[in-house]
Amino acid sequence: MAHFHLAQLYPNLMNLYGDRGNLLCLQKRLEWYGYDSSIENINPGNNLDFRHIDLLFMGGGSEREQELVLQDLVSKTDSLMKAIEEGLPVLFICGAYQLLGEYYRSHEGKEMQGLGLFSFFTQGFKERLTGDILIHTTLNGVEESVVGFENHGGRTYFIDKRLQAFGRVIKGFGNNGEDKQEGIRYKNLLGSYLHGPLLPKNPKVADFFIKAMAERKGLKIEGTLDDSLENYAHEQVKRKLMG
Ligand code: GLN
Repeated sequence: MAHFHLAQLYPNLMNLYGDRGNLLCLQKRLEWYGYDSSIENINPGNNLDFRHIDLLFMGGGSEREQELVLQDLVSKTDSLMKAIEEGLPVLFICGAYQLLGEYYRSHEGKEMQGLGLFSFFTQGFKERLTGDILIHTTLNGVEESVVGFENHGGRTYFIDKRLQAFGRVIKGFGNNGEDKQEGIRYKNLLGSYLHGPLLPKNPKVADFFIKAMAERKGLKIEGTLDDSLENYAHEQVKRKLMG
């Protein structure tokens, strides 16, 4: 039976607001679809062999934690970009998403180099962008709503205007509270400010990753799941935001 290998980068440092729940959600849905899975924890100094993983995840973290993981992450830059180009499913939340860009400048003006995989930067502000958020995405080819919770001091700006956002902000702040863009999407990579965690309340986003993982293994996911509970949770956030 096919087994799915999920990997989490720096679970002890980068895991704000229950972000690991995204992996637990994927595991549960894979089980419901009839597949086994496991989560490998990748800590600083550990080897990350992209040939043996089906999905890479990193959660959010404060500037302090971002700095602590950066050196190790930088050593993985080339292999990470190669894997992304080859279609590896990747989910990076908030502080992790920020590290994919060129740099992060704190509100005191201290600059931290990012991996530079994508041409964007993040500027920190004292005033945080916090609250529930609703975006629209065309991740699965049709427009769908995605809900979550955001809490970030950093505002992310695309330098390369051709970069594709994960979604368009309907309510909330997103990348910077100005241009209505939220997150980034490239091949099977998503970077997003949405905690919550993201996947349990947005089963269609979870299934985007499951489908992408399965396709890379030459598998076809059969059947549909009963998502009435997940959709109820999704609708509750939407209703609260839209009145
Ligand atoms: N340090 C970052 C910020 O506040 C990331 C925070 C987070 O991951 N929630 O912008």
